[in-house]
Amino acid sequence: MVDTVETPIESLEYRTEVKQLLDILAHSLYTDREIFLRELISNASDALNRIQFEMLTNHDVVDPDAELAITITVDDEARVITIADTGIGMNRDELVENLGTIAHSGARTFLQNAGQSQSTLEEIIGQFGVGFYSVFMVAEEVTVVSRSYRPQDRAAQWQSTGDSRFTLADADKSTRGTEIRIRLKEDAAEFASTWRLESIIKRHSDYVSFPIYVKDKEGEPKVANRRTALWRQSPSKVEAAEYEEFYKQLTFDDAAPLLHVHMVADAPANVRSILFVPARRERSSLRLRPEYGLRLYSRKILIQEHNKELLPEYLRFVEGVVDSEDLPLNVSRETVQSNPVTRQLRKALTNRLLKELKNLAEQDAAQYATFWSEFGVFIKEGVASDFANREALQELLRFHSTHTGADGWTTLKEYIARMQPDQKAIYYILGDSLKSVMRSPHLDYFRKHNIEVLYLTDFIDGYMVSQLRQVEEKTLQNVDAADLDLPKDAEATAEDAAEAVSQDAFEKLLTHVKQVLGDRVREVREGKTLIDSPARLVSPEDEYARELQYVRRVIEEDYVAPAKTLELNRRHPIVANLARLLSEDAANPLIDPSVEQLFDNLQLLDGAYQGSVADMVERIQKLMGAALRS
Ligand code: ADP
Ligand code: MG
Repeated sequence: MVDTVETPIESLEYRTEVKQLLDILAHSLYTDREIFLRELISNASDALNRIQFEMLTNHDVVDPDAELAITITVDDEARVITIADTGIGMNRDELVENLGTIAHSGARTFLQNAGQSQSTLEEIIGQFGVGFYSVFMVAEEVTVVSRSYRPQDRAAQWQSTGDSRFTLADADKSTRGTEIRIRLKEDAAEFASTWRLESIIKRHSDYVSFPIYVKDKEGEPKVANRRTALWRQSPSKVEAAEYEEFYKQLTFDDAAPLLHVHMVADAPANVRSILFVPARRERSSLRLRPEYGLRLYSRKILIQEHNKELLPEYLRFVEGVVDSEDLPLNVSRETVQSNPVTRQLRKALTNRLLKELKNLAEQDAAQYATFWSEFGVFIKEGVASDFANREALQELLRFHSTHTGADGWTTLKEYIARMQPDQKAIYYILGDSLKSVMRSPHLDYFRKHNIEVLYLTDFIDGYMVSQLRQVEEKTLQNVDAADLDLPKDAEATAEDAAEAVSQDAFEKLLTHVKQVLGDRVREVREGKTLIDSPARLVSPEDEYARELQYVRRVIEEDYVAPAKTLELNRRHPIVANLARLLSEDAANPLIDPSVEQLFDNLQLLDGAYQGSVADMVERIQKLMGAALRS
């Protein structure tokens, strides 16, 4: 805009979504209203970071020498507070774009949740943070006057009382930045106090890197935040409580982190970094994390807010800051990725973090168990995808097994130490839930022979074992493999031989079952490893690919897994009686439903049932009817 013609005052309507949000805020009884200040300071700090970054390469800006700072002025008689920054500023169009719609992803998620969720609005506000608009929890009227950093832009004013409209006008402001004037609601007068504002700043914005001055209308400005770049201090000088505070202010999480790692090194690359593992994957009282990534600084100047190259993707749950003087200051956000220093940093940070996790596992089993239940799946993703760090990652794995039960955990090392003398493989069973795998017929043989089996019930487990395949030269073996090389079960065959049905009747049954089930099974045969269970489904020889079936079943809606082989236990009463019934009266109406049900039961146990529930219920009722009659 280079024309000098005055643009008239415009009155514009908010987008519908903003109106909804404002309506909710106006009527909420949210008690933590003070977070409005955190939101406005965070916006001011973003704007300062952006001008600082811009000025690395562009000197043609308004007020190039202005101090990068935030100034808060209180007028308690007028019940007005003003928050001014010397940041990047906004022109008229940007004011409309940024403060007339919902740019902020947290606010959008907030609205969706406010629509559906059972939780109260107050909880949801705390959860998501609603950005700029949170000011209307305390404001009767808000006036934003802003002057963009671009010399050719003109200053503009945005004003709203938080109902359905806002106005825009030209403004007189010759200095760069944004000034937000808040006329407080009567019931929010408490915030028109320097003392109160200072204590809120301490709590929520102490580590903002620009000075935040607070002053009375006539008073002297006083810096309210400590502004330390904690990561540039020596770890021995930083208290545990300081890490915790820093984490909370960095992430807006209200729970303390599970682990912090403070890394200070000068070789092979200069790095000052603090990384955090949060306590939870989903942080209930925090805005959902809109985007993952580490804050990347070079000499305290923020280069990138969500850098994704400094750690491998599977470590995306890690929060923190990285500062390196080896990154050239004029590095663009795009070239961070291809810079060789980035690769060195990534390697160093990953190694260090994995080492600290290992230490945690060794020193604090309970804490590590918490870590594992929240973030174990990410480590498994790493085992599958990060070949270079596989050994370190493998040591972090934890499993439930037939040995530990549902409450204990084992490592792979411990499993290997417990292996039977003649045991060649590491056995595992895949399924949807612990409950179902623990009852699987595949485990009969292993229980009886005291061979441990790992329970793999995470979505990603199938993918992980298909990539891992071996540990310390021991193959990983699915217990449902058809060609398991197991020692013969001599005693069982001898002792139960008498009860078993005749060879002839059993073979008839095998043929009949194949007829009933058709293409749904590849083959029907005797299962020699079964003990307490009537039957099991085994996978054809070749496939590690079957591990991926679990993944595909979840991802692909109409995925049909390849047919398996059905093994029947001729010593089991259900099978033996079926064979007998079939020999006596092939037309007995209970035979086929029983075969169907036997098959469906196995699919249910494998977490793979895809048939119709209604059909099954009808069939079960038919069988119950017969059972109750006899
Ligand atoms: P978010 O900060 O998550 O983007 P907000 O609702 O807090 O969402 O702010 C909306 C947008 O308004 C910001 O992205 C920014 O573009 C603009 N904005 C808000 N405050 C300022 C400010 N003090 N200086 C410059 N731009 C600002
Ligand atoms: Mg914001």
